[in-house]
Amino acid sequence: MLQQTQVSRAQHAWSSLLADLPNPAAAAAAGQADIVRRWEGLGYNRRAVGLYRAAVAMVEHHDGTVPDSLPELLALPGVGPYTARAVLAFAFEHDVAVVDVNVARVISRAVAGRPLSAAILQRTADGLVGEGDGWRHNQALLDHGALVCTARTPSCEGCTLRRSCAWRRGGSTAPDPAATTAGTSRPQSRFEGSQRQARGAVLTLVRGGPADAAAIEALRRRHGEARIDAAIDALGAEGIVGRLDGTVLLVDR
Ligand code: SF4
Repeated sequence: MLQQTQVSRAQHAWSSLLADLPNPAAAAAAGQADIVRRWEGLGYNRRAVGLYRAAVAMVEHHDGTVPDSLPELLALPGVGPYTARAVLAFAFEHDVAVVDVNVARVISRAVAGRPLSAAILQRTADGLVGEGDGWRHNQALLDHGALVCTARTPSCEGCTLRRSCAWRRGGSTAPDPAATTAGTSRPQSRFEGSQRQARGAVLTLVRGGPADAAAIEALRRRHGEARIDAAIDALGAEGIVGRLDGTVLLVDR
């Protein structure tokens, strides 16, 4: 849920998901449509499908448990390097570095003082994790990037790293290395009028149950026929929605 969604938006959905579906077997049994319904308001609904498919894979290949190795986690549907390492660091307390947009910024500024490629960034980040310190180290670095070493106005005056910071030490005014480091900038396209908005509108509609032709037509009038049709086609190709007897509905598995 936290890939590209703020904690404040994910908090409620996370707590209720965990209370109702506390393990992979429960999530797999709930079915894909149930997980997609629970994703309401979080955006990027592909992640809900990934979560469901990962739960099924864990039931089928890992006796319903979450695997604790990087290759096994990366083999799960919807799990990339960030999520795999976050699970290892926070659930299993392994000494691996979690690199998100905030951590990438801190490392390029405070440690390297220059722009970094994705591979060097991950290698540098992994090299900073002390033995037995993975959980604490990652929590600290994520928070430092989110709260102190922010993208636009880093609080260098009060920063505990200011004396050693490779970018700022000596009062340097060199260009910000984070600006061109891998994974530090994710420009969001405009939501209004976008395909994301059309996808969201279709999913909001079908979360309440199968949408008939009249409901789809109303959506087309509001968001444009081509955009809504393209959104339904794309969601269909991803296995999130389907058509049945003239309705569009969430696919359940
Ligand atoms: S001194 Fe400034 S740029 Fe360096 S780590 Fe601290 S907040 Fe970031």
